[in-house]
Amino acid sequence: MIKIDIDDHSGFCFGVVRAIEKAENELQTSAPLYGLGDIVHNELEVERLHNKGMITLYADSIEKARGQRVLIRAHGEPPSTYDTLHKLGVQVIDATCPVVLRLQQRVKIAYETHPKEEWQIVIYGKKGHAEVIGLLGQADNNAIVVEHTDDLDRIDFNKNIYLFSQTTKSLNGFNDLIDNIQNRISANVVFEHVDTICRQVANRIPNIRIFAQNHDVVFFVSGEKSSNGKALFDECQKANPNSHLIFKIEDINPKSLANITSVGICGATSTPTWLMEKVAEKIKDIASQLTNN
Ligand code: SF4
Repeated sequence: MIKIDIDDHSGFCFGVVRAIEKAENELQTSAPLYGLGDIVHNELEVERLHNKGMITLYADSIEKARGQRVLIRAHGEPPSTYDTLHKLGVQVIDATCPVVLRLQQRVKIAYETHPKEEWQIVIYGKKGHAEVIGLLGQADNNAIVVEHTDDLDRIDFNKNIYLFSQTTKSLNGFNDLIDNIQNRISANVVFEHVDTICRQVANRIPNIRIFAQNHDVVFFVSGEKSSNGKALFDECQKANPNSHLIFKIEDINPKSLANITSVGICGATSTPTWLMEKVAEKIKDIASQLTNN
C-alpha cells in the first residue's frame, strides 16, 4: 500500500488567492473580465478562469479593454499602465498583492528622496518579470536590475547604492549579492539594503526540503512559466533526487511508482490545490493497478 501525501505548505500564496477571489467575484456579476497577463503562472488555472469568462490581455492587445473592467494581478503594474487604462476608460480591479504594493511604495520613496546624481536604485530580480517591470516604473525606469553576478558590472561602485529585492527571490541569493557589493564598493560609498523578500515564498524552501526528504518519490506540480516553481523544484531535487517535475496529470510516469512506499505531492505558490488533489487521485489509481498486477 503506497502512502500519498499532499504538502500542506504548497499551493497558492495569499496574494494569488486574493487575486483569484477578486476575479471570481467579478465574474459572478458579469463576463467578460479582462486580466493583464496570466493571473497566475499556471496554464490550467488560467484555463479554468477563462472558461468562466476571463480574457487575458497583453501590452499589445490592451486596446481591446476600452470601456471594460480590467483586473491587475498580484504582481502589480507600473504607473504607466494605470495611465493607459485610465485613458481607455477602463474600470480597474486592482488585485496587486499588498506586499508588492508596499515594495512599490518603498522604491518610489527611495527614488524620489535620494538625489539621482549621488544614488543608484538597484533591484535584485528577474529581468522582464512583471513584478520587476512594476518596480522599475516606480523609479521612472532608472533602476538597475541585477539578476546574476555578471550584472554587477552595471553598478557604479563609487556611487551610493539603494538595494531592494523582488519579493520572490531567494534569501541566500540576496545575502550573496549584499556580500558581493560590500566587497566591491569604495570606502566612502553609502550602501542601503532592504530585505523585501516575501516570507510566503522564502519559508517554503526549508519546508519543501523536509517534505522531499520524507518521501520515496516526489511529484512537484507547477506551471511551465513559474520561476518560483523552478526554484522550489531545484530544492526538492537537491533534497531528494527522486523528484519529478510535472505540469499536468498525464506527465506522471507509472514506472516511477514501482517499488516505493511513500509519494509526496507538492508545488509552487502558483499551483492550485485542486490540481495537486487530481494528481493524488491519479497516483492512487496507478498504485492500485500496480498492486493488482
Ligand atoms: S509571493 Fe508574497 S508578495 Fe508575491 S503575491 Fe504571493 S504573497 Fe504577495
